[in-house]
Amino acid sequence: MPLLTLGSAAFDSVQTPSDARDHALGGSAVYAAVAASFFTKPQLLAIVGGDWNDEFSCALQLRGVDLQGLEVRKDQKTTFWKGRYFDDMNQRETLTFEGNVMTPDYVPFLPDAYQETRYVLLGNGSPVADLALLDKLSETKLVFADTMDYYIQNTPRELATLLKRVDGLILNDSEAAALTGVKNDSFAAARKILGMGPRFVVVKRGEYGAFWMSAEGDIYVVPAYPFSKVVDPTGAGDSFAGAMMGVLAEEDSLDAASVKKALLYATVVAGMTIEGFALEAFDAVDRNVVDARVEKFRDALVC
Ligand code: AMP
Repeated sequence: MPLLTLGSAAFDSVQTPSDARDHALGGSAVYAAVAASFFTKPQLLAIVGGDWNDEFSCALQLRGVDLQGLEVRKDQKTTFWKGRYFDDMNQRETLTFEGNVMTPDYVPFLPDAYQETRYVLLGNGSPVADLALLDKLSETKLVFADTMDYYIQNTPRELATLLKRVDGLILNDSEAAALTGVKNDSFAAARKILGMGPRFVVVKRGEYGAFWMSAEGDIYVVPAYPFSKVVDPTGAGDSFAGAMMGVLAEEDSLDAASVKKALLYATVVAGMTIEGFALEAFDAVDRNVVDARVEKFRDALVC
C-alpha cells in the first residue's frame, strides 16, 4: 500500500558543535517519505518555491519517492529552517523558521493518483493544511498526524479539531506535556491525548524509547536504538513517523505483530537518520541494510 506524506519540504541549515550544513535537503514530509521508502511507495505532498534544487528531486526519485504531489510555485521561496544543536545534542534551538511558500492558509493540491490512498501521515506542518487535505480524502484506512511545539502554541484550536479527525497522533514527550499540561508522565499524557480524539497515540521519549497506546488499552513499548553515533539529530522524529507508517502500510494491518514490527523498524530508521547530516546517512542504505540493523537491535533486546 502506498503512503501519502504531507508536510514541509525545506532547506535546512544546521549547526552542530563540530560541523554545519547550509541549505541541505530537509523538511518533515521529505524525512518521512525517505524513511517510508524502505517499506512502501511514498507519495510526497509538499510545496516548494522557484529556488527549489532539482537535484533534491532527483535524489528523492532515486529513493522511489513519488513526486506528483510536489507543487512548485515559481514566484515564491522554499520553506527554510535553521537550527543549532548544543554540546548536549538532545538540546537544540531554532534560529530561523521561514514558512515562505508554505503560507498559513496553504491548501495542499491532491493529484488524482493519490485520491484513494489509504495510509496517510500528516507530518509536521500546519493543522489547517492537514484539515484541508482530509476534506479531499475519502478512502483512508489509517491517518496519523505528527505535531510539534510550534503548532501546539500557534494553532491550538485547529489542532484540537484535527485530533478529532485522525486515527492517531505521534509526538515526543515534551510535546505531549505541552499539549496536555501533564508533566513528567508520558503515559498519563498519552491517556489524556486519547481523550482528545485519536484512537492511537505514539510518544517518542528520546533515550527512553517510544510507546504506542490505544484507546482499547493496548500498550507496546520499544527501547531506544543503542548503536547510533550521533552526527545530526535533525529529522529523527519525522523519520520515526515515516518508517512506522511505511511498515504499517506494507503490512496493511494494525494487529499487534504489525504494530510491534513498525515500532522496531521506526526506532532503527530514526537511529540511522542521525548518523549523518540531513539525509546523507542513507546514501548507501537499502532495505537489506535496514533489516540487518533490525536484527542487531533484536539481538540486543532482553526478550
Ligand atoms: P525534527 O528534527 O524531527 O523535529 O524535524 C526537523 C525538520 O522539520 C527539519 O527538516 C525542518 O525543515 C522541519 N521543520 C522545522 N520547523 C518546522 C515547522 N514549523 N513546520 C514544518 N516543518 C518544520
